[in-house]
Amino acid sequence: MSDNSNMFKRRVYPLDAHNLTEEQIAVAFAMTSRRPEPFDEIAEQVSQEKAADFHERWVLGYGHASVAEHAVVHLALENLSRLACDVLEDNRLASYTEKSSRYQVLEKGSYYVPKELQLEPELSNKYRRACDELFGLYSKLIDGTIDYLKTVYPQRENERDTSYALRLRREATDTCRSVLPASTLTNVGITANARVLEHAISKLMSGTLIEEREVGLEIREQSRTITPTLIKYAEENPYLKSVARNKWGDEVSRSVAIGQGPLSSPVSASLVSWDENAESKLATAILYSKSSETYSQVSNRVDSMSDKEIDEVITSSLVDIGDHDAPAREFEMINYTFEFLMDYGAYREYKRHRMQSYIPQVLTVQNGYRDLVLVDKSGLKSVYQETLGRVDQVYADVASWSPNVAQYLVTHGHYCRILAQMNLRECYHLFKLRSADLAHFSIREPILEALKIVVELHPRLFKHIQLRDYPEWWPFNK
Ligand SMILES: Cc1cc2nc3c(=O)[nH]c(=O)nc-3n(C[C@H](O)[C@H](O)[C@H](O)COP(=O)(O)OP(=O)(O)OC[C@H]3O[C@@H](n4cnc5c(N)ncnc54)[C@H](O)[C@@H]3O)c2cc1C
Repeated sequence: MSDNSNMFKRRVYPLDAHNLTEEQIAVAFAMTSRRPEPFDEIAEQVSQEKAADFHERWVLGYGHASVAEHAVVHLALENLSRLACDVLEDNRLASYTEKSSRYQVLEKGSYYVPKELQLEPELSNKYRRACDELFGLYSKLIDGTIDYLKTVYPQRENERDTSYALRLRREATDTCRSVLPASTLTNVGITANARVLEHAISKLMSGTLIEEREVGLEIREQSRTITPTLIKYAEENPYLKSVARNKWGDEVSRSVAIGQGPLSSPVSASLVSWDENAESKLATAILYSKSSETYSQVSNRVDSMSDKEIDEVITSSLVDIGDHDAPAREFEMINYTFEFLMDYGAYREYKRHRMQSYIPQVLTVQNGYRDLVLVDKSGLKSVYQETLGRVDQVYADVASWSPNVAQYLVTHGHYCRILAQMNLRECYHLFKLRSADLAHFSIREPILEALKIVVELHPRLFKHIQLRDYPEWWPFNK
């Protein structure tokens, strides 16, 4: 018997991005499909020019787009509106970290003025005044709520002045960020492969807003310095363009642009559809992976089991689950569709969960805005509601001209409606993260409401979820 262990020795090593460009790495990986040599030997033979030729021919010419996934780009974007950033972050295969309005106080005047308004000087002035008013209100509310908080949370013994100030500021910003408009400028760092980036650029370039299209062009220009060939042909896409310009949306929004004012505790989550036989379906998926029978054979077997046996099958797949573990992939077979009413600030956090599918409605003031308990307690209710009333009116003026542009005026405290589908595996992750005491109250509320609905519907599927903090109504052992 021959000893081939030296000949076929296992090797694991990085292809060094300091010596090779991202496009050369992508070619070295792609060539393994047809060539027997090790990756580092292939890489030595791939010059930048050869890499460009390869990508032109195979990736762009013959559509082997998956090769572009091996070329990775890190991009820093500064001072784009949160509204445009939403479109950029709506690409689930990339990674993002964005400036937080929970942990920072934002600078006065840090908002975007849409270029669309250049042709409408009167509306443009109204828009700027509304944004200035909101930023003025933001700083007034921060000062006022901190003054109030000092009266209810005295400095702790041995607490440093800076820590005390930070503690109060954190609580104040969590509430006061509500009045920041969607035009607020943000910074975001993205890590994405060239395939995702090409799609993100096309989507931005096909957008309805000038800012989106400009950001798309700027991303394309800068990405080309890292992956010149793979991003070369990223263009506006006719299909994405027609979807983004769905005329019905404009007509519906225009007809109901009236703000609803403050709302306290609206219904924030409802279940729109779910798997009727979720428990049997999950048990079938769990047994299927351990079986050699067809799906219908396993399903018939599960149909003849008692409820107790089905429960045991489900429990058996979760017994050793740790605090940071995701349940097995079989949990992805069970789906839930929710309708959420959450404020824009909460939606911005919610949409960052990439394993779910979410369909947001156009941002509007028509669903009302959040009643802020801390602001009320700090004696600032009237200044808050009067300012928001004026902003709602400016929104209506801009919306009657362009509902798309008017979105920039919708604040983080205005409610928006979202249709969201997620599987049971993502439910475990998202509910745990966003029901925790640490999560912002605006997202915790709808998530706890959604959790309560599914716990009542499918107790056997949710009794195993390990939350960081349990709500009072939790019906199982903690
Ligand atoms: C308290 C709190 C504070 C936060 N502060 C900020 C902030 O200041 N700025 C900011 O930008 N974001 C912030 N976030 C958002 C956060 O970083 C995540 O983007 C968001 O919660 C989505 O969750 P997730 O990354 O766990 O994954 P999801 O997108 O929900 O995916 C579920 C799981 O799939 C896996 N997964 C998904 N995508 C990838 C991927 N591309 N690569 C590897 N694994 C993946 C991971 O295991 C992940 O946990 C905060 C979140 C919380 C809870």
